[in-house]
Formats: sequence, structure tokens, C-alpha cells
Amino acid sequence: MAEPRDGPYVWLTWLAQWMSGQNTCEWAVWFKAHWLDYERVEDETDWAAYRARHTKLLRETHRALNAEGYRVKRENQNRFTYRHERSDVVVGGKPDLVALGEHDNIVLDTKTGRAHDWHEFQVLIPMALLPQSNLEEHRERRFRGRLVYEDGAVRDFDQRQADDILEQLPYFLEVLGGPEEAAMRVPSWQECRYCPISKTHCPDRIESPPAGEWEQ
Ligand code: SF4
Repeated sequence: MAEPRDGPYVWLTWLAQWMSGQNTCEWAVWFKAHWLDYERVEDETDWAAYRARHTKLLRETHRALNAEGYRVKRENQNRFTYRHERSDVVVGGKPDLVALGEHDNIVLDTKTGRAHDWHEFQVLIPMALLPQSNLEEHRERRFRGRLVYEDGAVRDFDQRQADDILEQLPYFLEVLGGPEEAAMRVPSWQECRYCPISKTHCPDRIESPPAGEWEQ
């Protein structure tokens, strides 16, 4: 039995993947933003090894920041919500690390596996929203951002980039706060196979690869 949410709520990862163009099926984001409980397709990937590698990278990054003199907040300590008044959509997120220093503050995410463009949005969005979120201690803060990859690669972001994202955000949140018909459903094997929404809710779901499809 599907259960609606009290109001539209979007998790940072869904928003980052949509805004960056990684995922194009905006109806999937709209549906998850409006429905709390629904019939899901179970993810059968074994994430255990990935999670252990991620925890290790996160811990090492945390220690390195402490050694540089930063006060560091980690995962659940960084759980935030931000309400966009015009659309009434709430954005929720949980950056891996927030480092608070004497001279600057950093939002960091650590990533194992391949680099993707949406990773950048996963850092830029909280850089923009933390000062306006429910976490009052960040109210007056400005943030720079950093992505740390397992292979040692590092990407840095400045506040100006977060300000640019903040300008674009209302357009996307108003789609999520708007009517279902305005959110476009874009079925493709590449996205449907990772989507948790079952055919009960999404009759357009594609459940097998098209003939002649090659893995990339
Ligand atoms: S199953 Fe496919 S078409 Fe349906 S919501 Fe998910 S991504 Fe979109």
C-alpha cells in the first residue's frame, strides 16, 4: 500500500543526479518526493565491500583534517533540511564531512569508484544550503567544497560556484512542488534498471535491455 508524504521532500542525491543530467527521468524524482512508502524493486547489489572502502576513506580524510586543525563533523552530525518557501519543497541531505576552521569552512564528500559530474552537485548544493538550513550553527558561515576520491584525486569548489547553483535551484524545486503531469517520465534501460519504483507505479518501466545493447 503506497503512503504519501506530508509534503514534498527531496533527498540531496536524487536532486544532484537530476540537476547534473546524470538522470533525466524527472517523474522518478517527483514520485519519490511525494511518496514515502511504495512498492519497490529491491537492489540486489552487494554493497558491503564498497561501504567498508568508503568508511576507510572517510576516516582517513577526517583524521587528515583534524591534523590540519579543523573541527570536523561527520555524516549524521551534518544531517540538514532546507525548506524552499515558494515551492514548499524540503531538501534533505547529509554531507560526509563538514570541516570548521579558523579561517575557512569546507563541505567534503568522499567517493570510491568512478568520478561522475553529479558528485560536484552533491557538494555544491549543501555549500549553498547549509547557511539557510535548520542547522543554526552554520547560519553566518561561507563554505568552500571538496571531493576526495579513493585514487587520491581531489576536486575543489569555491563559494561562487555554490552561489550559481543556488540561483538555479528554484526552477527544479518548483517542478517537484508542482503537479505530477508537469514532471516528465523518461524511460530508458540505463535509468530504469537502477530505479526503485516498480511497474505497479510506473507502467513505462523498462525491465530488460533493448536487443543489441552493449554494456559500456
Ligand atoms: S522506472 Fe524508469 S520510467 Fe519509471 S520512474 Fe523509474 S526511471 Fe522513470
